[in-house]
Amino acid sequence: MRRPLVAGNWKMYGSRESIASLVSGLLQINSVVDVAVFPPYVYLQQVIKALADTTVGVGAQNVSEQRQGAYTGEISADMLKDIGCHYVIVGHSERRTLYGESDQQVADKFIAAQSVGLVPILCVGETLAQREQDETLAVIARQLDAVTAVAGIEAACKAVIAYEPVWAIGTGKTATVDQAQEVHQAIRQRLGAVAESTRLLYGGSVKAANAAELFAQPDIDGALVGGASLDSAEFGEICKLA
Ligand code: PEP
Repeated sequence: MRRPLVAGNWKMYGSRESIASLVSGLLQINSVVDVAVFPPYVYLQQVIKALADTTVGVGAQNVSEQRQGAYTGEISADMLKDIGCHYVIVGHSERRTLYGESDQQVADKFIAAQSVGLVPILCVGETLAQREQDETLAVIARQLDAVTAVAGIEAACKAVIAYEPVWAIGTGKTATVDQAQEVHQAIRQRLGAVAESTRLLYGGSVKAANAAELFAQPDIDGALVGGASLDSAEFGEICKLA
């Protein structure tokens, strides 16, 4: 059985004060599923310390593909591991589109993360134009294969894959359950031998109001939540539904 995971991506929001209050809200969540949060880099240690006695995992939103060296402004996988991170998001669509991350770079980040024992959450997803041109499954396959070609298919089950249609992120538009399930099923089929043991999350405007129907789909094992994860009560509701 795959254990559901609800992950909260806090993006570039928050201050020491607002994050302390978000974390105290998280302490009230009594979840039977796995829960993880992804604060901005500079608040990671604050959150790791505050959640140390809980089962809530903490991860970073990005990682360098380089091990170490003269890479000004970058953060390595070793550093994230060193401060107590468990997870790291790789290939988020905002990184792919706003910062030009290629499939190859995402694959290198995935490998860098796994090489130190971090669990990557690999994001894949199509743009609206790609969906309208009926390219969704081809785009997802290309993004997935770029990683499995270098990391190996077995690496997938030691990671988490998040299907996030780009047009649904931060827009308030959620994929219909049928659209989401169709892509999740296609991803699972592509994973071959590790299909049944790999957790697949849906992401894209998930809120308490639409989470239950998404979680009821056979191939959806949880959610990667952006905006709604900044409200601990709403996030707690989503965790309860998983
Ligand atoms: C995300 O950032 O991964 C995301 C899914 O955002 P939102 O829930 O706000 O659409």
